[in-house]
Amino acid sequence: MLQVISDIDDSIFKDKKVFVRVDFNISVNNGSVGEDYRIRKTIPTIEYLTKRGSKVIIASHLGRPKGFQLHYSLSPVAKRLSDIMWKSKVTFVNDCVGDSVRKIIEKMNGGDILLLENLRFHKQEEINDFEFSKQLASFADIYVNDAFSTSHRKHSSTYGAAKLFDLRLAGFNLNKEVEYLSMIKENPVRPFTFLVGGVKIKDKIGALENLLPKADKVLIGGAAAYTFLKAKGVETGNSLIDFEHLSWATKALSTFSEKIMLPNDHVVSSSSKDIYASMIKGDIPKNMAAFDIGTETAQRYSNEVGCNGSGTVFWNGPMGLFENGLFANGTISIAKSMALAFWRGSKTLIGGGDTLEAMKKAGVSEGEVSHVSTGGGATLRFLAGDDMPGISALKK
Ligand code: ADP
Ligand code: MG
Repeated sequence: MLQVISDIDDSIFKDKKVFVRVDFNISVNNGSVGEDYRIRKTIPTIEYLTKRGSKVIIASHLGRPKGFQLHYSLSPVAKRLSDIMWKSKVTFVNDCVGDSVRKIIEKMNGGDILLLENLRFHKQEEINDFEFSKQLASFADIYVNDAFSTSHRKHSSTYGAAKLFDLRLAGFNLNKEVEYLSMIKENPVRPFTFLVGGVKIKDKIGALENLLPKADKVLIGGAAAYTFLKAKGVETGNSLIDFEHLSWATKALSTFSEKIMLPNDHVVSSSSKDIYASMIKGDIPKNMAAFDIGTETAQRYSNEVGCNGSGTVFWNGPMGLFENGLFANGTISIAKSMALAFWRGSKTLIGGGDTLEAMKKAGVSEGEVSHVSTGGGATLRFLAGDDMPGISALKK
């Protein structure tokens, strides 16, 4: 069990320096911040601490810089955080270690917020360098991790530094991710429907292996479906096939044949750039590729998700090449049926960067999903049961 910031007596936070690892790895173009969902998600944790009189020292990485590179600076992010947290004093410091940082921290008052510069401007961060970890840890009294999406990495700020604190706590965001993902991994509310799409079976195989036995229904769409259809002997034309995982798919189909659902109709075209597409049933012509599930499949899957009383639904991976409007219907239908399932009382979870994009494209808001997992790689690793250094570092 993780110890969450709300499990601790309020008085412990008063005037304490709290190091909070967040994931502010968001897109910044020419100094302007794009989608700020990752900032907004950490507000409950930051506000919880400022209201209890802590001096909040926030650290994050941004991108994959090679040493200092201005376009990877967190300075624009500090500005956005300050706009959101207008009641608090938000300061930015242009390094994450060293005397300049220490001096600013010494002047902080309870309730103040300080955002450190990009941790990855120092290469020591990613190699979990002990001296670097010690420097980070020396700035604060309490450690909080609210960056689930980087907790699969054994870096200084997620692991090495964390271990040097006596008091190591989970933020609300990280805890919610762990609670929801543990629920579907260990004890899903039944019936549990698992919808999987997208392209790379390779990235998802660990999660698939853990969830296939757990789920009551597994609906497969996206390019992933064509690897399964090919394994079944269906003609798949030029559709994307993951040849490396064909035999794995054959085995999964024979073990879980009763619960796996596959598309029976498809939107096909000669290329993804084509402006014409047609709907076909069964085999895919040799010179064509399938870029979306067909309307009948979309209807079948949507019914399963939104109308058949799922207890839990987890969706990862778009049903088609939704970036092109010609091939977006399947994904949009699923996004809408996810919202319907939510309103009907199912626990709904969405994971995956492209899946989130698709959900927005379908006009489904974050508030119409029980939990939006922004973990990406971390979400899949967690579901696969892999070691999560950022989480294990929090445990005693
Ligand atoms: P996520 O980021 O949600 O985990 P993935 O990265 O696995 O999802 O897959 C998303 C990508 O899969 C999208 O760019 C989408 O265009 C592509 N895709 C889905 N279905 C197909 C298909 N039938 N053919 C080609 N690409 C597809
Ligand atoms: Mg993706």
